[in-house]
Amino acid sequence: MDGSSEKTTNRMVTILPNYKIGKTLGYGSFAKVKLALHVATGHKVAIKILNRAKIKNMGIEIKVQREIKILRLLMHPHIIRQYEVIETPDDIYVVMEYVKSGELFDYIIEKGRLQEDEARHLFQQIISGVEYCHRNMIVHRDLKPENMLLDSKCNIKIVDFGLSNVMHDGHFLKTSCGSPNYAAPEVISGKPYSGPEVDIWSCGVILYALLCGTLPFDDENIPTLFDKIKKGMYTLPDHLSYVARDLIPRMLMVDPLMRISITEIRQHPWFNNHLPLYLYIPPLDTIEETKKIDEEIIQKVVNIGFDRNQVVESLVNRIQNEATVAYHLILDNRNQNCVPKDPFQSNFKEISGGIFNSTFPVQNITSHVGHSFSALYGLKSHVKDDKTWTLGLQSQGSPHDIMNEIFKALQNLKVCWKKIGLYNIKCRRVQRRVRSLANYTNHTIEDECAIIKFELQLYKVREGKYLLDIQRIDGPQFIFFDLCVAFLRDLGVV
Ligand code: ATP
Repeated sequence: MDGSSEKTTNRMVTILPNYKIGKTLGYGSFAKVKLALHVATGHKVAIKILNRAKIKNMGIEIKVQREIKILRLLMHPHIIRQYEVIETPDDIYVVMEYVKSGELFDYIIEKGRLQEDEARHLFQQIISGVEYCHRNMIVHRDLKPENMLLDSKCNIKIVDFGLSNVMHDGHFLKTSCGSPNYAAPEVISGKPYSGPEVDIWSCGVILYALLCGTLPFDDENIPTLFDKIKKGMYTLPDHLSYVARDLIPRMLMVDPLMRISITEIRQHPWFNNHLPLYLYIPPLDTIEETKKIDEEIIQKVVNIGFDRNQVVESLVNRIQNEATVAYHLILDNRNQNCVPKDPFQSNFKEISGGIFNSTFPVQNITSHVGHSFSALYGLKSHVKDDKTWTLGLQSQGSPHDIMNEIFKALQNLKVCWKKIGLYNIKCRRVQRRVRSLANYTNHTIEDECAIIKFELQLYKVREGKYLLDIQRIDGPQFIFFDLCVAFLRDLGVV
């Protein structure tokens, strides 16, 4: 450890008592990034240290503040998570998710052009992250492979929101942003733009780079480069599939009004192929996301020593404190551990993104009942290191057979359903409560009815193992529990 590094670490020990500071991960143009361990949960984080004097001298205070403010809002499996920001008179410490494997840029350089399946897997994650930003009225404006980190499982994390901006309906942005090779024609021409379309152009350049290993627009001479971009001059190599050759030009359409939208990208056959189900449904916006509170994680935070009501209240009010930092760290690490190892094969919703909100009481039961569903809820997960708990019914049957059994049970229980994806259904049941008038007459009348809404999702835990998650969306809890019991009975589990 050199002298300056030792000084930084010593200073950090007093300022950040909740973290054990480790090695330096890297240096940016105005920050140093350190690896650290969050003591209460044992999870690794990256801490970015920004020196106030330095950022002031460089005139980038607004950029820094903007990035911090925007990242605080975002919660998506493919956008870097910011857990907390600690400010002192001299420095700003930004505690972030630790991402192990480096930049997508280096990955492309090392591997050259990627096979279409691998490129698609990364591109689907990028589009989902960008779509989530746009839903939250944020346009990134500097999307490029240097701003995409890869985690240890080769999943994308979009970073560097320093040039991003908040969109306002009916207003145009004008600032020229980002790296010239990835910048849209309207941006380099200084024309006003509404926002999302410039990110779509950059994603088109990234898609080209993933599939071809080179940039569509490149020139040492900047005016020539700009000329090529404005004219949309690039070539599509012969090795590209027919569908990829269709998508790229739609994204690199010079006229922003003619450019494909994210909704249309989602419908494009190149994008749709092997789309994991957790990316199938457009991401929730941040407000909806924060409404979901995971009981299992709350329990873990309470076990560390925090007060339950305080944790829940802080989460609901989006207050940053030690308890909520611990909650989010445990949640994100649980979700990351549950993503299947082979994402290319999976057509199932992967276990990520806080979907597992427990609506069932957790029980440690692992009874086997000779049916396609072999275990009850409160099941210890078989994913990776067996440390996480998941909630649902486990089955080893074929997914097709499992779904057939589910449909039969739902039909028997007079539940209506709507398919959201191959293995994801939204269900609705009208429950009538019958009031007997037997004391007066021989008649009964139906005087009350309750509508229960719930969602069923079949997850692939690993090859040959599937997990059915049941989540109440709306309706009285006890009637929902009764319905669950009837459902389990029909499936032969209880
Ligand atoms: P610049 O600020 O010049 O655009 P940069 O974006 O790479 O460069 P930083 O964000 O300060 O700068 O990051 C510096 C280095 O720290 C990165 O190159 C990377 O190696 C490492 N790093 C940054 N964030 C993380 C993270 N969340 N997890 C792991 N390593 C990280």
